[in-house]
Amino acid sequence: MNQIESYDVLVVGSGSAGAMAALRAAAQGISVLIVEKTHKYGGTSAASGGVLWIPNHQLTPNDDSREQALQYLNQLVRGTIQRDRLEAFVDQGPQMIRFLKSEGIGVMPAAWPDYFPDVPGARADRSIICGTFDGRELGDKFTLMREQYTRFKLLNRYAMDLAEFFAISTRGKGWIMAFLKILWRYWSDLGTRSMTRRDRRFTSGAALMGQVYKRVFERGVEVRLETRLDELLVTDGVVKGIRVSSFGRCYEIAARHGVVLCAGGFEWNQALRDRYFPVPGMTRHSSTPEDANRGEALLAGTRIGAATEHTEAGWWIPTMHMPMPAVSNFEEIHQAAFDVGRPHSVCVNREGARFVDEACGYDDFGDAMVADQLKTGANTPCWLVFDANFRSKFTAGGFMPTAIMPDRSIPPDWWDHYIFRADSVEALAAKIHVPAAALQQTVANMNQYAHTGTDPQFGRGGNAYDRMFGDPSVQPNPCLGRIEKPPYYAVAINLGDLGTKGGLKADARGRVLDGNGKPIPQLYAAGNNSGTPFGNRYPGAGATIGPAMTFAYVAADDIAARAGKPVEAHACSIRAAA
Ligand SMILES: Cc1cc2nc3c(=O)[nH]c(=O)nc-3n(C[C@H](O)[C@H](O)[C@H](O)COP(=O)(O)OP(=O)(O)OC[C@H]3O[C@@H](n4cnc5c(N)ncnc54)[C@H](O)[C@@H]3O)c2cc1C
Repeated sequence: MNQIESYDVLVVGSGSAGAMAALRAAAQGISVLIVEKTHKYGGTSAASGGVLWIPNHQLTPNDDSREQALQYLNQLVRGTIQRDRLEAFVDQGPQMIRFLKSEGIGVMPAAWPDYFPDVPGARADRSIICGTFDGRELGDKFTLMREQYTRFKLLNRYAMDLAEFFAISTRGKGWIMAFLKILWRYWSDLGTRSMTRRDRRFTSGAALMGQVYKRVFERGVEVRLETRLDELLVTDGVVKGIRVSSFGRCYEIAARHGVVLCAGGFEWNQALRDRYFPVPGMTRHSSTPEDANRGEALLAGTRIGAATEHTEAGWWIPTMHMPMPAVSNFEEIHQAAFDVGRPHSVCVNREGARFVDEACGYDDFGDAMVADQLKTGANTPCWLVFDANFRSKFTAGGFMPTAIMPDRSIPPDWWDHYIFRADSVEALAAKIHVPAAALQQTVANMNQYAHTGTDPQFGRGGNAYDRMFGDPSVQPNPCLGRIEKPPYYAVAINLGDLGTKGGLKADARGRVLDGNGKPIPQLYAAGNNSGTPFGNRYPGAGATIGPAMTFAYVAADDIAARAGKPVEAHACSIRAAA
């Protein structure tokens, strides 16, 4: 083998899992290389909301506990999971957060109800966010980090944090001032304007990844872009390195102590979706970056005997698509997670029937789409139907409220293709090929529920999570407003995703297991490259990045211990054995 270089540990993929594995390993004095197949580092994580779900995080003096976290998770998690892995997440998550803090990364708790707020043990303070970050602190790596989606930027250009996004997208209190401040900040930054269109103000996932990568680079770790893992190299049953390709050149890199697979899920691999999912959905409805996660590392793992788990579902999120302004022949995916539960609207399948509490968590919404599709064959896509009241106040995927995006600004060829409009519910039903009587009945029911404030069918607006994205000015139930003001609109809602839930089966120490449940020596996986500890559930905001960073941290410690490196005081209690 034409081996040209070697490292203590090789990390495959540069998202939140990869960045954490590298940072933690480097902090233990281990030599690390990250290989990243695309031309940008940061993965989906850099384009995400950047929220981490870490129960009992201990960032503030509160009364959460290991017991309460497990009480919540035990009630929630369905099907077969690895119990010790779930407990390792609960135990090591707070340690990982302490490590981030010790590295100077500005994490803080956010008030966000767990996604099943009525389940015993649920709380509203387990999600963690990062403050905004000045991307120029990354020096010449500033523009090489994966950028946030245009759709999350104000007017396709200006970075917004979550508070600004919610204020502006719902025209909430102070939205005009927030809008003007964003514009001022961007245009008064003359230094950056002379260099790039990109906003130096990193928010959400970009803020998290910007802060982590600042430390990764300061610790001397190289991120090798345009370098794709193709195969794992195994000698005498031990993983000893990887084969990569870069611009068509193939070469091998050796790993002395371990390979950590952090190459995301398989959401952009239609063949794997078709193989694993009961309702496959389409790659192009995924809301993750198109050029990234295609399951090569999952397949490389299975080729050397690794087991998989929880591959039957995505991290679902309702999405819709519409053309991208000023880009020919290209449609952009927009998330509609919070839109589908706003008042003055309802979601129906192609029979005109509801199938879910529309204001529930987005992963649950996707699960309901799958279940309804299996039952009726009339879902995926479903329809978000709304009236002029909704249209004036709320986003419908990529369609901003009328104050920002009036109907007259929507290109004529988008009507009745990407958004449908009619003067009556009956006429709208005809346009979207849904039985008119059924849709009229559903709308009449919703209007009745809006009046009483109770949704006897699905309980919409009946818990704290639902109400978080309702409109407090709508009473008695902020998630239920009458659908009565013409014109009426509809957009198609797809079974979108934020990535996939399943992957290589890794244990409580992040070690990849073979079909007999034995660790494959020196092979680790974290993030969406591995199976989620939660089975088929999404317990709260940040429930993919939280475990991704936790198990990457745990894997790095396991490698460090095997490599004979001292593990720092705040490190995990799970220690490597052999
Ligand atoms: C818009 C949006 C918002 C989201 N918000 C949140 C949130 O707030 N909280 C949350 O928990 N989750 C959120 N998610 C989901 C979350 O972003 C992902 O689940 C998470 O980022 C996965 O992290 P990861 O490190 O496993 O993978 P990724 O961040 O996707 O990184 C994987 C990396 O591996 C690289 N790679 C793939 N194949 C190879 C290969 N063969 N060789 C080398 N490199 C390879 C990819 O290019 C990519 O850079 C969001 C997702 C989206 C799309």
